[in-house]
Amino acid sequence: MKLHVDLKENGYDIYMEKGILYRLNDHIQLNRKVMIITDTGVPNSYAQTVKEQCKEGYVHVVEAGESSKSMEVFQQLCEDLLEHNFSRKDCVIALGGGVVGDLSGFVAASYMRGIDFIQIPTTTLSQIDSSIGGKVAINLDDVKNIVGAFYQPKAVFIDTDTLLTLPKRHFYNGLVEALKAGLIYDEKLFALFEEEDIPAHLEEIIYRALCVKKAVVETDEKELGLRKILNFGHTIGHAIESYYHLSQYLHGECVAMGMLYFMSEDVQKRVLPIYKRMHLQSDVPYDSDEVFEILCKDKKASGDHVTVVKVNTIGKAELEEWKLSDVRHILKG
Ligand code: NAD
Ligand code: ZN
Repeated sequence: MKLHVDLKENGYDIYMEKGILYRLNDHIQLNRKVMIITDTGVPNSYAQTVKEQCKEGYVHVVEAGESSKSMEVFQQLCEDLLEHNFSRKDCVIALGGGVVGDLSGFVAASYMRGIDFIQIPTTTLSQIDSSIGGKVAINLDDVKNIVGAFYQPKAVFIDTDTLLTLPKRHFYNGLVEALKAGLIYDEKLFALFEEEDIPAHLEEIIYRALCVKKAVVETDEKELGLRKILNFGHTIGHAIESYYHLSQYLHGECVAMGMLYFMSEDVQKRVLPIYKRMHLQSDVPYDSDEVFEILCKDKKASGDHVTVVKVNTIGKAELEEWKLSDVRHILKG
């Protein structure tokens, strides 16, 4: 299955196919130097499979986890490219989750002012969300994604077979972004989550979520308007994530919490049983004053207002300007 993200000269194809990891050569030119960036949590056999298809492939393994999205690791990767004499004609492949994708993308965007970048996402979160949209970044002094760029990949390869090795917690964490996509844009996608066996619908869930992201990103590449709807649940979600120092709860788990505040009661009634089946908590404990303080520091809050995304009808998002004091109010419950 192929989707084209139409961004004029920055456009690219997303290939979604079981086992495509073994057939990259049919779609892209690997007859050049290729730096495959992956992390210690991604099964080594995936990197070897990719390397075997390259004329001159190098594998660079970083530590698994958010701490690899750092200046130090960024520098090591750039040095590695330089040591191996990578030129503008060569390429970087991100093979892993969002951490590897964000980091590798920023390396590819920066090295020689930009070399070819290919995404092979291997987590639900990265297959559904982070590998599409062109946002790449690293963290600085615990501030997430503060140094980065918009840099589109040349291609994205989604092999859902790679998800078979993904721990269950990460599996459902990433699917929260698909549930979000259904809530804001695609009622049919949402309905798939109401089926008894969610994993049985995985292919269709990922495909439909990709279509939502594609449609929204194509309309608004640089997040000036419509793309804001993708932030549904993220204003409070991010703040809860930071409250726990990005360690105790995963991103999707916090977004799931954040979304609950901005949906009608009717929608909530349909969402809560889904959370249960996805093993998501709807009552992560936190100090509302502290979470509010973090939220105010977040870049999405400008002045004393914040743009919030609301879902009153499944499949349809609405943008509203809220006073920060209103957000404080709902946080207090
Ligand atoms: P992650 O990249 O840390 O991956 C989660 C864990 O799964 C890691 O331990 C990893 O080693 C392991 N793993 C990856 N693939 C595996 C596989 N196939 N089998 C077994 N283990 C595997 O986490 P994530 O949830 O994929 O991504 C989170 C990151 O994505 C955050 O840094 C976040 O900021 C970023 N993000 C970026 C965007 C964007 O638009 N660029 C959007 C959302 C999130
Ligand atoms: Zn998110």
